[in-house]
Amino acid sequence: MLCQPCSIHSQSGSLNMGPEAAVALARPDPGLALLSFSTSVGDKPRPPSLPRPSSTFTFGCGGEAVWGAGNLMVPLKQPMANMPFLLSLLLTVLAVSSTSWCQSSDTASPKASNGAPFPWNNIRLPEHIIPLHYDLMIHANLSTLTFWGTTEVEITASQPSSTIIMHSHQLQISKATLRRGAEDRLSEEPLSVLEYPAHEQVALLAPQPLLAGPLYTVIISYAGNLSESFHGFYKSTYRTQEGEMRILASTQFEPTAARMAFPCFDEPAFKASFSIKIRRDPRHLAISNMPLVKSVNVAKGLKEDHFDVTVKMSTYLVAFIISDFKSVSKMTKSGVKVSVYAVPDKINQADYALDAAVTLLEFYEDYFSIPYPLPKQDLAAIPDFQSGAMENWGLTTYRESSLLYDKEKSSASSKLGITMTVSHELAHQWFGNLVTMEWWNDLWLNEGFAKFMEFVSVSVTHPELKVEEHFFGKCFDAMEIDAFNSSHPVSTPVENPAQIREMFDDVSYEKGACILNMLRDYLSADTFKRGIVQYLQKYSYKNTKNEDLWNSMAHICPTDVTQTMDGFCSRSHHSAPTSHWLQESIDVKTMMNTWTLQKGFPLITITVRGRNVHLKQEHYMKGSESISETGYLWHVPLTFITSRSDTVERFLLKTKTDVLILPEAVEWIKFNVGMNGYYIVHYEDNGWDSLSGLLKTAHTTISSNDRASLINNAFQLVSIGKLSIEKALDLTLYLKNETEIMPVFQGLNELIPMYKLMEKRDMSEVETQFKAFLLRLLKDLIDKQTWTDEGSVSERMLRSQLLLLACVRKYQPCVQRAEGYFREWKASNGNMSLHIDVTMAVFAVGAQNTEGWDFLYSKYQSSLSSTEKSQIEFALCTSQDPEKLQWLLDQSFKGEIIKTQEFPHILILIGRNPVGYPLAWKFLRENWNKLVQKFELGSPTIAHMVMGTTDQFSTRARLEEVKEHVKGFFMSLKENGSQLRCVQQTIETIEENIRWMAKNFEKIRLWLQKQKLEI
Ligand SMILES: [Zn+2]
Repeated sequence: MLCQPCSIHSQSGSLNMGPEAAVALARPDPGLALLSFSTSVGDKPRPPSLPRPSSTFTFGCGGEAVWGAGNLMVPLKQPMANMPFLLSLLLTVLAVSSTSWCQSSDTASPKASNGAPFPWNNIRLPEHIIPLHYDLMIHANLSTLTFWGTTEVEITASQPSSTIIMHSHQLQISKATLRRGAEDRLSEEPLSVLEYPAHEQVALLAPQPLLAGPLYTVIISYAGNLSESFHGFYKSTYRTQEGEMRILASTQFEPTAARMAFPCFDEPAFKASFSIKIRRDPRHLAISNMPLVKSVNVAKGLKEDHFDVTVKMSTYLVAFIISDFKSVSKMTKSGVKVSVYAVPDKINQADYALDAAVTLLEFYEDYFSIPYPLPKQDLAAIPDFQSGAMENWGLTTYRESSLLYDKEKSSASSKLGITMTVSHELAHQWFGNLVTMEWWNDLWLNEGFAKFMEFVSVSVTHPELKVEEHFFGKCFDAMEIDAFNSSHPVSTPVENPAQIREMFDDVSYEKGACILNMLRDYLSADTFKRGIVQYLQKYSYKNTKNEDLWNSMAHICPTDVTQTMDGFCSRSHHSAPTSHWLQESIDVKTMMNTWTLQKGFPLITITVRGRNVHLKQEHYMKGSESISETGYLWHVPLTFITSRSDTVERFLLKTKTDVLILPEAVEWIKFNVGMNGYYIVHYEDNGWDSLSGLLKTAHTTISSNDRASLINNAFQLVSIGKLSIEKALDLTLYLKNETEIMPVFQGLNELIPMYKLMEKRDMSEVETQFKAFLLRLLKDLIDKQTWTDEGSVSERMLRSQLLLLACVRKYQPCVQRAEGYFREWKASNGNMSLHIDVTMAVFAVGAQNTEGWDFLYSKYQSSLSSTEKSQIEFALCTSQDPEKLQWLLDQSFKGEIIKTQEFPHILILIGRNPVGYPLAWKFLRENWNKLVQKFELGSPTIAHMVMGTTDQFSTRARLEEVKEHVKGFFMSLKENGSQLRCVQQTIETIEENIRWMAKNFEKIRLWLQKQKLEI
């Protein structure tokens, strides 16, 4: 799954403005971020050293109305459960849904919903009943918004058992039977059904025990309502250009919602094959994981589609959609049919994703040396979608903005985002679908790899996008949350659904990708590739743990290395300038365990004494100035270049301290070349002065990634008191001469959050000076921007962000030009086409008066372009009129004229707005229970909303408010909700902000006074 779009992110722009954001999220426009609020895109929470803003994008068409009123539900076999039963079940479900997340498996003597003892007391299913094959028949009625179905599961028992425990959530089971015996002596016996909603489980009780060995078939008839949320089997709507509202039904099962569509063994290790049949109105179209085999008439006005049997796979990858979508298709060289599905009015925006998908699928078949095992791959754009995309095998689903590209209106960052998102989901067809983590504690094996493969694949298939420039931003994103005590190891025990959902964060995705990239850099690209190919081949159609990956890697030795008897690789020759590589064993497992089983990351402190370079590692942690001794030790593959040599030298630091001896003394030394390692570096004595001097006099001596990483590391060190704020700010002064996107964005990511903190305090004098300084710093670069769409993707993204920043910060040449364009555009009734890269700046300026705002909103309603809608949404949220901001919150929450999928993004944008943030914070508190119902406790969306509305607070009073709220809303659920990780993160972030401001604000004030005279 790709969460990004669902929320906030930061980094790479932390402010998000940026590039990264765009990348990560597949966001139409990264930019925005800056605005008076800044934003970012992304999918995970981001607590920063300084809060970074963020934003999300997306949108869709709104509506609700019923399409297909003639789609009568024909209950051929199963009557609906009776009303009293339904009612009591509903009450139980409601009572349980808010509490189940925190229940643990050790609840004493569970009672089923009918009061009888429930025979299983663990949230994990027993291992002795194994599903082999499912026959699913689902009949959805898009008029009544209900569905019913039968599930036939072939099972076998590894030990005698009278009970079968399965998952089922919010389904009404009307009948269950067990078929046993060989074909000629089949017997069917009824099973009694007990439900235990707290664990989302049912127990089927057999009159006689099942024996170990033989095949049995469990047959369950059930019914349910299409979900009003974004998971399970859920309703989505859109409005045609003629204004007609239509309904469709789609699925989102990862991680634990397949059980909302059919009773099943809903854990990733219970892989089985699936035969799926869907009943539908003849005017609809059904698609699923596999191609259609045949379609039969089962009643008047009712068709049944039979899909081919799937390969062996996990339940969370099952998918089906009933809609009136149109599609376009192409074949890959190896004969896989690739199709993109979208609502009819937008099918003309499908071509870019179709071509990208064909190219990427061909790339992966070649790279992994394993053919894509299905005959087809469908990519479907769903009008209502919570995250960015989902990798269901053979039927990947996307938010419309993550898949549809409008040649006339989509932005450069949108193209980048779509390419990355498609690449991510197709990588999952191998990492995740073919080889799956055994349990959600190792989610990173799915997500870290898919995130990492985005960069590996797109850098080859779409070199013009230069994605490699953006990679390090992922690592900064991850470090933002990984620097807090509330972080967690990449591989972390989880049990209940809310804990599982919390795993979909920057640690699993971004940190996972960063440590893989670090390992690849260490082993060499070729060795690394051979290792993962071996891993995929060995574990195809199986499940894996962390150590299975490292064992696969450990058995591949780099070409200059020999394998020893114990399986380790031993380097016999190496050109490194030190003796440390000699006889060095490469123990991949031991090394990587230090990165996956410990939270956080190391700070490497460098002290140069003549030719001796002293190295020290310690656990970098925010929250205090004295580094706490956690006892963590990492195996850090260090890389460095010096003033005397641009050859990358390597050294594996395995101890707390060590010493390197250089061949000669140097003027400067830069570690973590290209930011390929997941660590930050502090240069003692005059180390930072030397590097700062280098940036001022000859910044292109080192790469743009190295420049950006110096900016990032300097401010990280300010947070823990290792570097003064003055020195870090001095370092940014070289940006006056910078032209590359990533260092500029990184600079903005560090600087904008500072004035964002001040905006929420009574500090207007310094805030104004700081904003003026930022404009002076970038004025030359802003003035150089043309108001066109020329140049590379990076140049275009930089232009879009800089013009937006300039206009939002009221740089008059920018504002005047934007006002002129807005007037012309409005006079043409929106028909004049604006240059895409300047549109955001033009809209943001236009939205500052009522007439312009209203006009923009009218265009929002009719636009078919994701980028344009996102740009308008952003502009609307920059209004300084509290009534308009409140209206946006209310309407997007309600979901009738602005889609609810937009709400999290709008809430966060308004949370960044100096006028709007109190409204956003109040709205979140007052509607908490409904938000949790809609977006699910523990989801990245909820985490982003919590962080996005509070992470720029920096006062005790605000901190107390947050704590009070936390206490209040979780008390109301009778739970200890403060264990929710995003709540811990937000509290740690505010505490850090308080400390940071107390220490640095006065220094910034004085520094700005000095700068005024100098730039
Ligand atoms: Zn994913």
